[in-house]
Amino acid sequence: MTKSIAILGSTGSIGTQTLDVVDQLGLKVVALAAHHNIDLIERQARKYLPRLVVLYDEACAEELRKRLCNINIEVRSGMDGLIAAATVEEADTVLTAVVGMVCLKPTLAAIRKKKKIALSNKETLVSAGELVMSEAAKYGAEIVPVDSEHSAIFQCLQACRDEKEIRRLILTCSGGTFYGKKKNEIYSATRAEALNNPNWSMGDKVTLDSASLMNKGLEVIEAMRLYHLPLEQVSVVVHRESIIHSMVEFCDGAMLAQLGSHDMRLQIQYALTHPYRRPSPVEPFDLVKCGSFTFSAPDMESFPCLALAMEAAQIGGTACAVLNGANEAAVNLFLNDKILFGQIPELVEHALHHIAVVQNPTLEEILQADADARIAVEEAYQQLN
Ligand code: MG
Repeated sequence: MTKSIAILGSTGSIGTQTLDVVDQLGLKVVALAAHHNIDLIERQARKYLPRLVVLYDEACAEELRKRLCNINIEVRSGMDGLIAAATVEEADTVLTAVVGMVCLKPTLAAIRKKKKIALSNKETLVSAGELVMSEAAKYGAEIVPVDSEHSAIFQCLQACRDEKEIRRLILTCSGGTFYGKKKNEIYSATRAEALNNPNWSMGDKVTLDSASLMNKGLEVIEAMRLYHLPLEQVSVVVHRESIIHSMVEFCDGAMLAQLGSHDMRLQIQYALTHPYRRPSPVEPFDLVKCGSFTFSAPDMESFPCLALAMEAAQIGGTACAVLNGANEAAVNLFLNDKILFGQIPELVEHALHHIAVVQNPTLEEILQADADARIAVEEAYQQLN
């Protein structure tokens, strides 16, 4: 069980909820890292008195350094700062809730220090899953997922003695904000429409990926990496109620599901208390009030991002890094009102089909594929205008 923690991404949705769990469990916070939210991280630093606080943005870190000059807390910035937070001596666990590829190097650094990784960042396993998992095995670093789907599978697999007994993993999918809509109806969707997610409160990138179903595609790839399974053994089912967080089907036909409320603190807490459970302040879930559960197949035609992710998963090698880098770049363009919602998969597809794939890539080749994908998206975007 976790006793001391470093939180990468402490000011975001997962980070702040992690601090709630930290309060509940009475854990020691050793390091906090975020991008640029000076006010919030200052409050967190004053409350938890970690040894190290990091703001990725150098100018923001400088301002924070001034504000915290009367307290004995080291303030750092940039990638070096993130890596320092990920490898801080006294932390036994590193929770990685920073969004994007920027989280890859700090996660690898934490693995090499044999830290337990409470994994919330998606891009790490999508882009560099094989490398990250083999490093984790080599150094004996445990990776416990925080994402609701992977946490559900992780919890179901506590009952599994032999991974060969798994027939398939079934990821549930809320269907996203645009559930039931056809491709032409959502092609020109606005930023405000795409970011309107009634069920979950998340950052813009994840909310948008949920609307395009790219999020589910990235989760399929993550699940393949976490459990060393081929694409054929990972499926997606739309479950509008989002109460079943995911399922595992075993070779004898039995299915185990993990279910509960939408409160992410449950998954965060389990990642920190595993293999034990502790009481939680989350309201008990009322099955009767919830009523019926529904299931349906995802609409891959209206949501091409999911199909593209599966294609990249099938190709393997650097294709997933290309998919992820291209998606990050395209999502950025959309969030800055430069492209339409329906152009996100078009730009991702362009990158995926134009960049040569390297199998069994090194870290450098993965980072190169990521960079190439972003350039390909930028070039394709320029040609749109
Ligand atoms: Mg999820």
